[in-house]
Amino acid sequence: MNHSPAHDAWHQADIAIIGGGLVGASLGAALAPMMQRHGTSVAVIEAAPLPEDLETPWQPSFDARASAISLGSSHHFDSLGLWEAMAERATPIRCIHVSEQGRLGVTRLRAEEFGDTAMGHVIPNAWMGRVLHRRLQTLPLDWYCPARVEAIEATDNGHRMQLSSGERLEAGLTVLADGGRSGLKERLGIDSHEASYEQVAVIATVEVDRAHQGMAYERFSPSGPIALLPLAGQRMELVWTFEAGAEQAALALSEADFLAKLQATFGDRAGRFRRIGKRYTYPLSLVTASESIRPGLAVMGNAAHALHPVAGQGFNLALRGVMDLVGAIEAGRVEGVAPGAKATLDDFEARRRNDRDNVIRFSDGLVRLFGRDHPLLSHARAAGLMGLNLVGPLRRTLGRRAMGLER
Ligand SMILES: Cc1cc2nc3c(=O)[nH]c(=O)nc-3n(C[C@H](O)[C@H](O)[C@H](O)COP(=O)(O)OP(=O)(O)OC[C@H]3O[C@@H](n4cnc5c(N)ncnc54)[C@H](O)[C@@H]3O)c2cc1C
Repeated sequence: MNHSPAHDAWHQADIAIIGGGLVGASLGAALAPMMQRHGTSVAVIEAAPLPEDLETPWQPSFDARASAISLGSSHHFDSLGLWEAMAERATPIRCIHVSEQGRLGVTRLRAEEFGDTAMGHVIPNAWMGRVLHRRLQTLPLDWYCPARVEAIEATDNGHRMQLSSGERLEAGLTVLADGGRSGLKERLGIDSHEASYEQVAVIATVEVDRAHQGMAYERFSPSGPIALLPLAGQRMELVWTFEAGAEQAALALSEADFLAKLQATFGDRAGRFRRIGKRYTYPLSLVTASESIRPGLAVMGNAAHALHPVAGQGFNLALRGVMDLVGAIEAGRVEGVAPGAKATLDDFEARRRNDRDNVIRFSDGLVRLFGRDHPLLSHARAAGLMGLNLVGPLRRTLGRRAMGLER
């Protein structure tokens, strides 16, 4: 990784990635063969300084945020030569248990029925970031960090950017992977459609009094869905969704009272909750960008689509986008077409469309189906959950989607 070059003059790159978060860093790592074999020049611009010395021994924090990484995503990381390092801190999900409070229906999706030992893994986000940034350090790319893209404009050959560091950059393909909150999309005239779920997720690490044996739980309760994901040891990641405003009362509770409320709502299926870390809140909405490509531009990750975390699909979907963008750029290169050419980006969009629309519909549908308290719907859900235990093809579709194998 080359640190940012001198200030004056315009710097050039074939591909500029705005944002070195999970998605931008994954794209940087996935472009390695093109940089190394074909001399494609890549720049990554990241506003936040790297959090730590990437080589110091890893100190697992009780409060670390973690993500469910589907089996499909672990295969992608493997193809990028990153899975071995990711796996050092990955906890396998061996079974997904789905239930609804006050209803009989329960469904269990086990990895072995899909011919694997894990349906996916849970990995601390900070560890994924460390593995990705370590890889970026070994690559011949230009790394502008900390530097914020403050202004962007389209040109005949791509886009020009002004960085907070004073540097100026011009790129044939610019990838907007800034998480969607920096205002750059709007400055380019790309609208977003935002539909608030009027819900807030409370996230925390909890400790249980027995081994979780790789179980992940999804429990739908009248106050909102609760997900528990297995972490190292007897810890689990809690994602508890509340109606907006109702989370305040839960946050005001003492640790002991919060755990008692969680126990009463969730029951004993995961054991007794005995410790909880810092509670974080995330307001939830479905945000989709009105355009994901333009000549010289691709919008990716949260900048393109921010989903409800109920099905743990956001990053997994984005990583498939990363792989498809690299596939389209590579196919274009073989034909002599530039990464930012309209034909390359049309190919990328054609590869993405179905998967993206299906996952957005699936996550949104799940929230709406389980978020409504109507007796008929409740019966339908219970029947659905019980039915899932019986009906082969539907189980298979749900399981394969959770594993990131269904498009
Ligand atoms: C509560 C919760 C739980 C989730 N759980 C899961 C899960 O289990 N599985 C899953 O697949 N997904 C999950 N997700 C979704 C996942 O977290 C996101 O899809 C993912 O973080 C998106 O990454 P990103 O790189 O697009 O954005 P970000 O993580 O927001 O990164 C954007 C980066 O861009 C940088 N940046 C911003 N503006 C600029 C600028 N102007 N110039 C330069 N740099 C800039 C920022 O500093 C940041 O580093 C969850 C989301 C939430 C909210």
